[in-house]
Amino acid sequence: MFEQSAELKMVLDTIREFVREEIVPLERPLLQHDFDTLWPALQEKRAKAKRLGLWLPQIPQAYGGMGLSLVEHGYVSQELGWTPLGHYVLNCQAPDAGNMEILIEHGTPEQKERFLQPLLAGEIRSCFSMTEPEHPGSNPTWMSTTAVKDGDDYVINGHKWFTSSADGAAFAIVMAITNPDASRYQRASQIIVPTDTPGFQIVQNISVMGERGIGWASHAEVRYTNCRVPRTNLLGAEGAGFAIAQERLGPGRIHHCMRWIGICERALDLMCRQATLREVAPGRRLADQQTIQNWIAESRAEINAARLMVLDAAHKIDREGTYAARVEISAIKFYVAGVLQKVLDRAIQAHGALGMTDELPLAYWYRHERAARIYDGPDEVHKMVVARHILRQYAA
Ligand SMILES: Cc1cc2nc3c(=O)[nH]c(=O)nc-3n(C[C@H](O)[C@H](O)[C@H](O)COP(=O)(O)OP(=O)(O)OC[C@H]3O[C@@H](n4cnc5c(N)ncnc54)[C@H](O)[C@@H]3O)c2cc1C
Repeated sequence: MFEQSAELKMVLDTIREFVREEIVPLERPLLQHDFDTLWPALQEKRAKAKRLGLWLPQIPQAYGGMGLSLVEHGYVSQELGWTPLGHYVLNCQAPDAGNMEILIEHGTPEQKERFLQPLLAGEIRSCFSMTEPEHPGSNPTWMSTTAVKDGDDYVINGHKWFTSSADGAAFAIVMAITNPDASRYQRASQIIVPTDTPGFQIVQNISVMGERGIGWASHAEVRYTNCRVPRTNLLGAEGAGFAIAQERLGPGRIHHCMRWIGICERALDLMCRQATLREVAPGRRLADQQTIQNWIAESRAEINAARLMVLDAAHKIDREGTYAARVEISAIKFYVAGVLQKVLDRAIQAHGALGMTDELPLAYWYRHERAARIYDGPDEVHKMVVARHILRQYAA
């Protein structure tokens, strides 16, 4: 069912080699310093990715991408997940990848020229500004940020946080209430706000698990104070913000889940290497302990199950669209996030103190990916979607 074409196999082989030979060596500066230290090296790798024809795997060929289907890009995302920098080098990283999709689907020709083209070229970055500290992000129809029409402009006021990668971004796509009297699903719109607009203020990069982050690898608190942008910056129809966000999140969850599976594969690989190298007594390897064997076997089974579930969901989105696959999408979101956490935890445990250090990417992922169970919808909300769907069949 999920057979790979010869062409896709070649692409995956090329990406695997590129990731392991060229991107993995950049992990150490990332883990021991920060993202910005790597800037020159990353630009060089991005140029090489372009030369190898590996640029924008998720984007249609008409826009300069590789034109892969969601299933095919899922496989690519898994290969890239092997290292924290993989997606960035091929320009398919969150949040830009989602914003590219929105601009392709809903952008006007002028918006595409000004915002999409430089994003596709990797010349600028962007962010997506929806969640507010004062409201539950798990109920995204409830927010306070407003965009009020004034002549040819919108004037935006609001307070957002966890606007990932806002630091250094050229523009934000902001969710704001434009139609307060409409039904709750039709109140908000998505509006492009260039970050040099007066009134756009990054209050701080929020410290997350002891790390404030910088540039792409950061999460900002943002204030919009009388932020005036032309009405031509509206994306899609007024009031369609929620519908566009839902549309964006479907493929986005496949990208995330396959990235997490890539992380799991790396963690399992590191665990197996350590288990065979480390002796707990002379001549007695960690790999000979049954507990470690259980962790390895359980991880293998859970990763394989997760992968099949994600590919199944991606296949359904490719064939029938995001709405038809909403239950599968919710199921993979919480299931794979849980597998990720378990596999990372076992891999760290198997390494002992070494697992806690920044010699390996395990602790980095453990810190950063705990959020997998929260962002793009917390586990509990996705479980509710799945359970409600099942229970509907039992309704009296
Ligand atoms: C690392 C990271 C990056 C992020 N990046 C972005 C970004 O780029 N742009 C952006 O706009 N937002 C971003 N977010 C925000 C994210 O989307 C929200 O955190 C998420 O939607 C949850 O909202 P909340 O934090 O307000 O939690 P709340 O909605 O307050 O929920 C708190 C907890 O309550 C429980 N809960 C909530 N609803 C229910 C329910 N119906 N039933 C049972 N339990 C429930 C869950 O356990 C949940 O974790 C990011 C978050 C993180 C952590």
